[in-house]
Amino acid sequence: MLTGIRQMEMREIPDPEIKNPTDVKIKMSVLGICGSDIHYYTQGRIGSQQVKYPFTVGHEGAGVVIETGNAVKRVKTGDVIGIDPAMPCHECDQCLAGRPHTCRNLKFLGCPGQAEGALSEYIVMPEGSCFPLSGNLTPDHGSISEPLAIGVYSFKKSGVVTGESIGIFGFGPIGMSVMLAAKEQGTDLIYVTDKIEDRLAIASREGAVNTGNPLTQNIVDQIRNSVPLGLDAVFECCGQQAALDQSVEVLKPGGKIIVVGIPEFDRWSISVELTRRKEISLQFIRRQVNCVEPALEMMKSGAIDVRNMVTHRFPFDHTKEAFDLVAGYSDGVMKALIDFS
Ligand SMILES: [Zn+2]
Ligand SMILES: [Zn+2]
Repeated sequence: MLTGIRQMEMREIPDPEIKNPTDVKIKMSVLGICGSDIHYYTQGRIGSQQVKYPFTVGHEGAGVVIETGNAVKRVKTGDVIGIDPAMPCHECDQCLAGRPHTCRNLKFLGCPGQAEGALSEYIVMPEGSCFPLSGNLTPDHGSISEPLAIGVYSFKKSGVVTGESIGIFGFGPIGMSVMLAAKEQGTDLIYVTDKIEDRLAIASREGAVNTGNPLTQNIVDQIRNSVPLGLDAVFECCGQQAALDQSVEVLKPGGKIIVVGIPEFDRWSISVELTRRKEISLQFIRRQVNCVEPALEMMKSGAIDVRNMVTHRFPFDHTKEAFDLVAGYSDGVMKALIDFS
């Protein structure tokens, strides 16, 4: 449980219990550490969502079903499942409009004020959040299906079609998920920037046509030199003002920015002149909707290979070490996973 800024403790708590007939009790196997978990760990908040200590984070999980409510149909005891952390109400205008990710009564695993997270040996989730892992899918795939779904969704929202060129600014697990989704959809002209060389090396290995480090290179000139007409779309995946500014610079007229990153500041600024003259579109992304299953299918069929995403693993009782590593961007970390046994 988070107990303060950069503070965390193991605590013995009662097992959560099944309350609704559609609830499923899960014994956790694996949990991925997300950038948002790190925001809560180091800042105690994301925007207005503030942690009240003690609080358990974690939402990129997979586990085994150990008990089911008497109305559960999707899964049975013993099933290995990936977990969609979103628990929408299914009744509000957003849910009825097919937008459960912006549900007005949304409860999201490990989100302050909504639901305790999955950094816990046992959790209870509604059956709608449980996705059985079949074929060659492992708990690792189940855990990665959450960030990967955000990549799949972001790419879908971009409207980018085969043959177009894209930039991915910020190559953490979300930037990498966007790239895997883009390649799966036939987009090969991908330019990746990041401040960490190890991440650029992964981007090159995954097939980026060019990579650049804004700390040591003028990435705007570099992209303009290789694509003089400009990029069709840029995915802002790091939450940095500089990256948004660079996006506006390198886009072609009519281009689109897809803002996926979560900044640590409260307001973006944007060039009036360039966005207007180029008629730039801005698309903000709120997590994902209906993309967990497609993400799992893409991994199952081999269309997407996430092997290079997981760089570190820690046992459950070393979770703090894992968080400090990810928070410090140390040791070339991309995705760190927690193993529960
Ligand atoms: Zn996440
Ligand atoms: Zn709703």
